[in-house]
Amino acid sequence: MWKNNWRDQIWDNLEIPWDLIVVGGGITGAGILREASRAGLRALLVEAQDFASGTSSRSSKLVHGGFRYLKNAQINLTLESVHERQRLLREGRGLIYPLGFIMPTYKNDPIPAWLLGIGLSIYDLMALKWGHRHYDPKGIYELCPQLQGSRLLGGFRYIDAQTDDARLVIRLIREAVRDGGTAINYSQVVDLCRLRSKQVCGIVLKDLAPGTKGRIIEIKTPVVINATGAWADNLRVKVGAKPRLRHLRGSHLIFPEKKLPISRAVSFWHPQDGRPVFAYPWEGVTIVGTTDVDMGSQLQIDPCISPEEVEYLMSAVSHVFPDLGIILNDVQATYSGIRAVLDTGKADPSKESREYVLWNESGLLTITGGKLTTFRLMAHSALRAIRRHLPGRPTFNSKLRVLDIPSPKALNDLDLNGSTQLRLLGRYGQDVDGLVETMKSGEIEPVDQIQTLWGEIRWAAHAEGVVHLDDLLLRRVRLGLQLPKGGIPWIDRIRAIIQPELCWDDLRWDQEVSTYQELWKRCYSLENHNE
Ligand code: FAD
Repeated sequence: MWKNNWRDQIWDNLEIPWDLIVVGGGITGAGILREASRAGLRALLVEAQDFASGTSSRSSKLVHGGFRYLKNAQINLTLESVHERQRLLREGRGLIYPLGFIMPTYKNDPIPAWLLGIGLSIYDLMALKWGHRHYDPKGIYELCPQLQGSRLLGGFRYIDAQTDDARLVIRLIREAVRDGGTAINYSQVVDLCRLRSKQVCGIVLKDLAPGTKGRIIEIKTPVVINATGAWADNLRVKVGAKPRLRHLRGSHLIFPEKKLPISRAVSFWHPQDGRPVFAYPWEGVTIVGTTDVDMGSQLQIDPCISPEEVEYLMSAVSHVFPDLGIILNDVQATYSGIRAVLDTGKADPSKESREYVLWNESGLLTITGGKLTTFRLMAHSALRAIRRHLPGRPTFNSKLRVLDIPSPKALNDLDLNGSTQLRLLGRYGQDVDGLVETMKSGEIEPVDQIQTLWGEIRWAAHAEGVVHLDDLLLRRVRLGLQLPKGGIPWIDRIRAIIQPELCWDDLRWDQEVSTYQELWKRCYSLENHNE
């Protein structure tokens, strides 16, 4: 699957009669492709950039009920998310894992401790699992000695979950392809085909991959699903619909674990505006986020953190962890994602609802908003909405597992500890045997201090649809976020592994490295901020 030449093979066969086409290869599109393929539909997913390159690789990576949404009375969203979290924890072991949170309470917090206690009880009741507990100041300080301790009144401990967002997307897409679905990256829908009645009846697709001369094809289909996330209005206006989305940027700072060494997530209120902010361990680094700022009409493909957001997040860090003496130079990487919310004109962007929206306009079904956590529900809802246009009016079984059960054979032959095995199973599912068989000697070792194995880099280049270097370093593996300087100090060994796998000549390699470095400096670091 997705070995050399795979894109050309798909392009050569795009003119078959598809039952449906999904536009957008983030978590929403991936979830829809997954459910459509397992229902036996001929489904095609097209993605303008790389799979998961939109918001779905730039989320906070929490699989959570969204305790804070209770504050805005988004009960339904919280309830659904809590149920999905529990299900993903059961059915996505190794990729979705529990994460302990603590919520310290201080004098003058915007929400009093007694109300938090009630909220957390409701949160636990929704999950039918009692997980939270109240601690006195000493108890909470023992759980997290890095906290500002002098004003501490106590706090709570509770449980949520986290994941690797981009890997979740890739796993869903690959399971869909295994079930007969088709997915292609770097293929942008530049227009919609329409009948005389103005109903949408297909797409015009342009190849954006290098060396393809921007070939264009018209593909007919009875159903087009617009799962383009923050960019959804761009397709909607092509059928005459009015833009309805508000675009909010959320940014994160990443610190090396040794600079901000916390073993649990810490949820606290920002001292400036009382918004909830999180600091949490993730895959060997510590992430702090997020912001929530209006982007106006500047909807870039690669959003970047602004100096004001950096200041906002740094002041949150020094407020809660004053004794760690964290300074700007400690920031290892940054990233920003764009959230699409229904624009109801609320003055405070954080008050806009995080529920997803579903619109059918002239046969174009748009599904956007929502959360990573609720992708399965969104997929079912989209497919139910267009069911009557599908052959045989298929039913979509919501009882099927979210992710397939892998049945590895080769994994047991490797000398790996239980947690690494589980991690590989979660990330690669049924592909884990392919990964193991492709590994060369010495590639069972982790890269530096992080959990990623060198063999995962080879596998990504070998079989995971990598077109550009940033696909590999920012999404298939996450070295661009986890290692200093975006992983560039390790680039010689990476080159030795992937250049032959991808058949890139030296000129292409140099171009890819320089484009990656430019992107990383601009959107994944503070290097340009210091100039
Ligand atoms: P995207 O992932 O953006 O995918 C849309 C895709 O469509 C893009 O890849 C884009 O390239 C493609 N596209 C656009 N136009 C075209 C075209 N013309 N042709 C082909 N393709 C096209 N949710 C959680 O559950 N937990 C969290 O911790 C969390 N944290 C978040 C933090 C931030 C800062 C933000 C912004 C959101 C967060 N969310 C979280 C929400 C979640 O990340 C998003 O709801 C989700 O990733 C959106 O996925 P999507 O597939 O709809 O959009």
